[in-house]
Amino acid sequence: MTATNLGFPRIGLKRELKSALESFWAGKTPESDLRATAKMLRQRHWALQRDAGIERVPVNDFSLYDHVLDTACAVGAIPDGYGWQKGGPVSLETYFTLARGERGTAEACAHGHAHAHPAKGAPALEMTKWFDTNYHYLVPILRRGQDFAATGFPAVEAYEAATRAGFPARPVLLGPVSFLLLSKMAEEGGDALDLLPGLLPVYAETLKRLAAAGARWVQMDEPCLVLDLSDKARRAFATAYDTLSGIAAPLSLMLTTYFGGLRENLDLALALPVHGLHLDLVRAPEQLAPALAKAPPRLALSLGLVNGRNVWRTDLRAAFALLREAASERRAETLMVAPSCSLLHSPIDLEGETALDPELRGWMAFARQKLEEVAILARGLREGAPAIEAALAESDAAQESRRASPRLNDPAVAARLAAGTPEDARRASPFPARQAAQRARLNLPAFPTTTIGSFPQTAEVRAARAARKRGETTQEEYEAYLRAQIEESVRWQEEAGIDMLVHGEFERNDMVEHFAEFLEGYAFTRNGWVQSYGSRCVKPPVIFGDVSRPAPMTVRWSAYAQSLTALPMKGMLTGPVTMMQWAFVRDDVPAATVRRQLAYALRDEVADLEAAGIAAVQIDEPAIREGLPLRAADRAAYLRDAVECFRIAASAVQDRTQIHTHMCYSEFNDIIGSIADMDADVISIETARSRMELLEAFAEFAYPNEIGPGVWDIHAPRVPDAEEMRNLLQVAAQRIPAERLWVNPDCGLKTRGWSEVRPAIANMVAAARSLRVRA
Ligand code: GLN
Ligand code: ZN
Repeated sequence: MTATNLGFPRIGLKRELKSALESFWAGKTPESDLRATAKMLRQRHWALQRDAGIERVPVNDFSLYDHVLDTACAVGAIPDGYGWQKGGPVSLETYFTLARGERGTAEACAHGHAHAHPAKGAPALEMTKWFDTNYHYLVPILRRGQDFAATGFPAVEAYEAATRAGFPARPVLLGPVSFLLLSKMAEEGGDALDLLPGLLPVYAETLKRLAAAGARWVQMDEPCLVLDLSDKARRAFATAYDTLSGIAAPLSLMLTTYFGGLRENLDLALALPVHGLHLDLVRAPEQLAPALAKAPPRLALSLGLVNGRNVWRTDLRAAFALLREAASERRAETLMVAPSCSLLHSPIDLEGETALDPELRGWMAFARQKLEEVAILARGLREGAPAIEAALAESDAAQESRRASPRLNDPAVAARLAAGTPEDARRASPFPARQAAQRARLNLPAFPTTTIGSFPQTAEVRAARAARKRGETTQEEYEAYLRAQIEESVRWQEEAGIDMLVHGEFERNDMVEHFAEFLEGYAFTRNGWVQSYGSRCVKPPVIFGDVSRPAPMTVRWSAYAQSLTALPMKGMLTGPVTMMQWAFVRDDVPAATVRRQLAYALRDEVADLEAAGIAAVQIDEPAIREGLPLRAADRAAYLRDAVECFRIAASAVQDRTQIHTHMCYSEFNDIIGSIADMDADVISIETARSRMELLEAFAEFAYPNEIGPGVWDIHAPRVPDAEEMRNLLQVAAQRIPAERLWVNPDCGLKTRGWSEVRPAIANMVAAARSLRVRA
């Protein structure tokens, strides 16, 4: 019975890796400094894990940027044009060019999400979400006939470094089949799985070297086993592990699955000639029983009993019961305890969260505390329940205090949800009637222009907020500053000729945290950072209790902005799905309940905005697609519920009030029906970079409502001219009837500077006007 871990956050408690990377990229520090920081972090994290009671410390889970990129580099899967000499080692320059583009031009959107964009020189690899987490990995590009060759053996190096330093280490590799399934082919119609035969020798060589270095176990991450698999993928798993398992004796392979249950792939996984199988028993506790019933007696089972993806303490008694269930059927030597997945997705240490109140803190666990829980469970099995009874009792007490806490359970919120009816999710009239009412009220020209919400968060704006936070300025001073910013932006929008204005979101630190600060049921950590990609981290707020809105959140600023102008001012909110998706969510009630609570809280805000005279309200839902379950069979239910929550938020208003929504970085093809079901009067989407390709799904579906396809790729520091935007609009007008088109940028402008925003918006207005003339 061993206490193990699958992976540890890389970024460092004080985000040391972020600082080291950014300083290196800026040319302020040499490579040796970056390497030294990386080494220090690895050592520190190994020690932390060992001290928490972990008996097999994962190594090679660390990465300077991304572990999928590391794998691609290690196996020589590097496209031409990145300065790599075939057969040679991969320089840091090549590595970071793959990650960030030739000049480090890959940029983040308003929420720290990944957007590579075409730059001069070699572009960054495309980035995409790592399963259903908020971590983003770089997508390797493979070619037909691609050959692979080891460019080095980082896993062996890490293993040797850890062993030298006295740590009992278990190397982690991203398994060959998942690696291929997560990659993409340069050629249309190519299938990366065809490359498996060429890839396996590189893995075999790595395993041999690990065995020679003394490794006993290797963790082979194959998270794709929790996805819907084609027959070809299933055969690839069989081929891969038939080939690899024999090669590296006496090395044992721990086939590691996470982010869900194996379901119909359980038999496949159990039939592979590996020595161990890791199961995510947090996401899928129900798979323990069939796994126990079917697993060959000698197969080691690693039980993922501690949630690697949230911030809550484990109910140790419940977890221990699962463990005992396993132990009653198997010899303890064949069992391991682990977090459900890598702790990459957890903040590092609760210890420093001194600003959280003690009660709340008592319910929480970050990576370090989670590892202590793993160690307790392992010890309980080894030494018997009495040995850990004190810890179990303490865990019971934490669970009990949470269950009973009035801070979690607000009867008014429960009553509100219980009183909800299907009518709450329905606007008064169908779209055509609403459209007529809105046209009569708003009286907008053809191709109406607007923006997505935020204006540049300049250093000055951020400094003003920081000064207020530190108490250096009074609330009155801060608000006077915001009023001045808003007034200036309103005047500028009027002069620029924008038809529907925004107030600019100067008061907002972030599109989620800002709202969370107004809502009951949310808490904030000081250091609860998790890596989003590369050096970028997010600090999601924590939803610990029933969510409600004690008072209006945005009405004052929107109403003030509206008071400055006769043109319509668009109110700006973040939707219920996104509010939940970008938070750590309580695990004691179903996620759908939390989402619905958010929906009602936002519904009240929308109603209040309407009552304050705001004629249009935008409810941003960029995360709606992100929440899509990994398995196709689960998607319809999620989409139905997500759409309903959006509609609950949006539907309290009269026909004449226009509801907008906005989504960026989305593929719409497979969810377009649900997008249409949201029934927003206007949707704005990100289409400039794809040159309106993303609009195709809307055209094919005959999407009935109004659409603002983005005409300015705001992720690049580049100002498109009017001609370019006009061309894009003309392409759009071939797909969507012109009378239903809006004109706007791809996304919010908070990451841009005014020196770009002013000319780009002027060009955008000119483009719209030129089309009006012709119409
Ligand atoms: N209203 C937000 C903004 O403009 C939308 C951001 C987003 O979609 N990521 O900043
Ligand atoms: Zn956006």
